[in-house]
Amino acid sequence: MLTIAGSDPSGGAGIQADIKTATLCGVHAMSVLTALTVQNSAGVGSVHPVAPDLLRSQLEAVMKDGVPDAVKIGMIPDIDSALVIADVLTRYNAKNIVVDPVMVSTSGHSLSESDASMLDTLAGSLYPLATLLTPNLDEARKLAGYAASCLELEIEQTPQFLSAVIHHFYGSPAVLVKGGHSGDPQFSEDIMSEFDEDCEEINLHYHYKSLRVETRNSHGTGCVLSSAIACGLAKGMQLHEAVKFGKEFLNTALILGKDYVYGQPGGHGPLFLIV
Ligand code: PLP
Repeated sequence: MLTIAGSDPSGGAGIQADIKTATLCGVHAMSVLTALTVQNSAGVGSVHPVAPDLLRSQLEAVMKDGVPDAVKIGMIPDIDSALVIADVLTRYNAKNIVVDPVMVSTSGHSLSESDASMLDTLAGSLYPLATLLTPNLDEARKLAGYAASCLELEIEQTPQFLSAVIHHFYGSPAVLVKGGHSGDPQFSEDIMSEFDEDCEEINLHYHYKSLRVETRNSHGTGCVLSSAIACGLAKGMQLHEAVKFGKEFLNTALILGKDYVYGQPGGHGPLFLIV
């Protein structure tokens, strides 16, 4: 599988998390960098996008060797990067594309442009190519909120409603709304909606419920989940099966690494990917 994402030198999130995830899933990882970040357990210091021409030549170099079985897309710093990625994936007819619509780090630092012109660009180029979008609740609200303002819709806050608006506006055939930030102290529930291509109706809903793991070591959970789902697709699983596989992989990693004491007081330790 190919991951297109930002670098996290602390090894919890970003391209480092994606490569470790793929390795533990028994999948070969290729990696194209969109940005360098400066960060550690205390938060993100700065973000440095890779120049669009360099992003394009990395993607071309990988694609010329062969189109990957699946693609995971994480941090996209700006509009130019989104357009380059969409163009190359379209020209090589890439399939099984999982997009984690990363916007803001847990520590509150912006990782991607998320204004109206960025969201219009994503809707018009990259998101329609995605097999699956994996927003957390905040990201789903932001994506659906913008869509609703363009479509002059009243928005309901259920994951199913948010997914339907996201599908309609951004064109991706399936949306997984992650409930990790929902505030439920006992459970974390993610809900995936798959849509029928022709009629805009929801085809299927899947619920993925797990006991919430109490830990400070949660930096990178979104990256690991989307990569593990991409690995499941690369291995030939159906989408629902791949999401179930990704959830189990993430939960196991959270449980195994929950008690490590790491980093600076008050910060978030990385999701430990060790065997
Ligand atoms: N840094 C990079 C490079 C990322 O790709 C991401 C998330 O995708 C993050 C940081 C944010 O991770 P978290 O919100 O878990 O801190």
